[in-house]
Amino acid sequence: MEVKFNHVTLTYPNGIEVLHDMDFDIDDGQLVALLGPSGGGKSTTLNLISGLLSATSGNIYFGDKDVTKQDALERGVGMVFQNYALYPHMTVLDNIIFPMKMAKIDKATRKQRALDLAKLVRVDDQITKKPSDLSGGQQQRVAIARALAKSPNILLLDEPLSNLDARLRVEMREEIRRIQKETGVTTIFVTHDQSEAMHVADKIMVLNDGRIQQYDDPQSLYENPNNQFVANFIGEPALNVISAHQLGTEVTQLFDGNVATIGIRAEALTNEVKEPAIKMQAVVHEVLSFGRDRQATISVGEHQLIATDVTTSALIDQEMTLFAALSGVYAFDKDGQRLPLRGERS
Ligand code: ADP
Repeated sequence: MEVKFNHVTLTYPNGIEVLHDMDFDIDDGQLVALLGPSGGGKSTTLNLISGLLSATSGNIYFGDKDVTKQDALERGVGMVFQNYALYPHMTVLDNIIFPMKMAKIDKATRKQRALDLAKLVRVDDQITKKPSDLSGGQQQRVAIARALAKSPNILLLDEPLSNLDARLRVEMREEIRRIQKETGVTTIFVTHDQSEAMHVADKIMVLNDGRIQQYDDPQSLYENPNNQFVANFIGEPALNVISAHQLGTEVTQLFDGNVATIGIRAEALTNEVKEPAIKMQAVVHEVLSFGRDRQATISVGEHQLIATDVTTSALIDQEMTLFAALSGVYAFDKDGQRLPLRGERS
């Protein structure tokens, strides 16, 4: 089911508007991440989709239907929360059956559907167990099956992986993608973890201060950020930021507009000749290797930078020329808006 927000705002009862003019479309069958720092507006947006919160202004559509005034039940959404609260006294199978029992679906049908869902989420060998006998990942699988029981229009997941350890998070994020692709149900999940969003989502909505910073596919967000916030938030190691005056007009004149800062991706910086690139005088302090990864600490004037593509042949503690491949160099104005390369304004 397609989800559409038409100029939606949300003001909490304390009078503060926390979501401003949210205008977006989520296509049918997509897996979308709401990504951003704490307080950015992710949960509020999710709760507006679910119907747990009502929009202060604007309209929300599921397909062609205006659901703005409908509650969560009428909208037919399935939800999985961070603390996925399975019913502890029920077996796995009964947990999955429960929402169908409430909806008065007949016994044989609901049992068969629960068995199918248990298979889909790969807990079919666990159905007679109680939740407390399952691992965190298995409990999460059951929670997803339960949320899918009534064939929801939309599946919503609020920080579904945050209670799992690092290895399980990686396993479950692949599983969420698999289950979503197998069922085809439009799914929206909240995360503050950029790597999680980048690995799982078809599209990512980056939220900060209650505004959409950019809504794009993962690759475009990384390669073509709209602003400094997105460029900083996406990618690991974080973007290197240098003031424009440090690099001088030779660099700033490459861009259209008043350049305040330059951002450089860690992997764009190298001591080997690269074109097209910007050149800078720098001092490499240290090059460390971690398995197949490398990390160099560099200073350019008063700025400390991290580079992942500086080779161990770099001269240590001596001034030398480094290159930053232009594809990984972004210019921003004083408000953090991205400035295009001269001649590239669309
Ligand atoms: P996120 O999920 O990205 O952490 P939230 O959607 O929870 O962000 O919060 C967005 C903003 O709304 C924050 O400034 C938060 O303090 C505020 N907020 C959240 N819930 C309430 C509430 N019930 N009443 C008033 N303000 C709230």
